[in-house]
Amino acid sequence: MGIAHEVEWKQLTLGHLSRNKFWGEDPDTQYHSVVASSTLVRDGDINILVDPTLPVDEMENRLQRYCGLGRNDIDIIFATHFHTDHRLEAEKYPNAKLYMSAESIQDVAELRKEGGAFAQIFLNGAVFDFEAAPRQLSPGVEVHPLPGHTLGLSGLVFTSGGKKVLLAGDTIMNAEFYHAREGYFIDANQEKTAVSMEWAAKNVDIIVPGHGDWFFTSDQATGGEKTLQWRKLNLCASGEETAVLVQAGNENILINSTLRGHLLRDAIYDAKGLEPSAITRVICLKSDPQHTLDVPIMKNAQLYLPKRTLEAEKQSTENGPRHLAFNAWEKTPEMPIDLIEIGSSSVCVFNSGGKKIAVSSDHCDEQALINMGVHVSIMGADTRILQ
Ligand SMILES: [Zn+2]
Repeated sequence: MGIAHEVEWKQLTLGHLSRNKFWGEDPDTQYHSVVASSTLVRDGDINILVDPTLPVDEMENRLQRYCGLGRNDIDIIFATHFHTDHRLEAEKYPNAKLYMSAESIQDVAELRKEGGAFAQIFLNGAVFDFEAAPRQLSPGVEVHPLPGHTLGLSGLVFTSGGKKVLLAGDTIMNAEFYHAREGYFIDANQEKTAVSMEWAAKNVDIIVPGHGDWFFTSDQATGGEKTLQWRKLNLCASGEETAVLVQAGNENILINSTLRGHLLRDAIYDAKGLEPSAITRVICLKSDPQHTLDVPIMKNAQLYLPKRTLEAEKQSTENGPRHLAFNAWEKTPEMPIDLIEIGSSSVCVFNSGGKKIAVSSDHCDEQALINMGVHVSIMGADTRILQ
């Protein structure tokens, strides 16, 4: 083979769990509805939809908004395992071949033989229409066994932008479970989960977990030290902007208040199990209404604007006394987030787990970010891995 094959990927849902023990939630209670991570993988002309988790209409809506594709464009649906939330309405993509690993097909056959409560819950929809996937799903995409959550669970591995990416399914639930090297409470075999996680840690750069946003395997664990944790709160289409939650000690800082109402509430809860009242600071990169949505919901938060923007607000008579609610952001040892200007764009820059993250308003010069050593750029709707 020699030359690594280039593959593109885009997460279509951020994914979250129905309960998360790392937020102090009890395994026996379902706190909210579950959403898995769905990803579109494009290898040349081949469109692979991995783990469709929403009804087909909603999935198609996202395919259109984020990738310009419809349900007819999907060539392959790959389910990392047979659980229903990873193959919802798979039969409704007219041109798609339905694949699971041969081991997952085996799981289904055995569960069918056993019967019982699990069979009742999981053997539904198009589960019997799935066929055993070839090990090489497409020229650049490989099926890799990751037993643990189920015995047959298999992820997909490919190279994109010089990074090795693993779509891991539920053997790796999210970044918190990965860093703790722990499986989920219903895993078929916890020892196998641990072995699969170790394989991922040693062999790939980026993991898209079963129920969460992607992360770097090399992120240093974020214990008591002064390293910030961050989460994207939304996925968006071109012209929209990503909101980002950053945690620094007891501070919960929202960058870009671009969500409103229940979308904002749900996003904050899904990302970290928090209520809007737990947000301590909001950094609005711009002062217009789109960038200061629903700020009053976060009733305990101090509000900030870039210094330059705040000065301009004070000069302008149109905005009246609105600027009085805002302060100019300044970096402190407790809140180590820089807010700088690059051209006309305001950019928040912070370190997390050994990586430098930038969140920009408008379009800002990507080369300038690379020169500053930025690893991940969040600009408008786009999240790009720069190095
Ligand atoms: Zn599952």
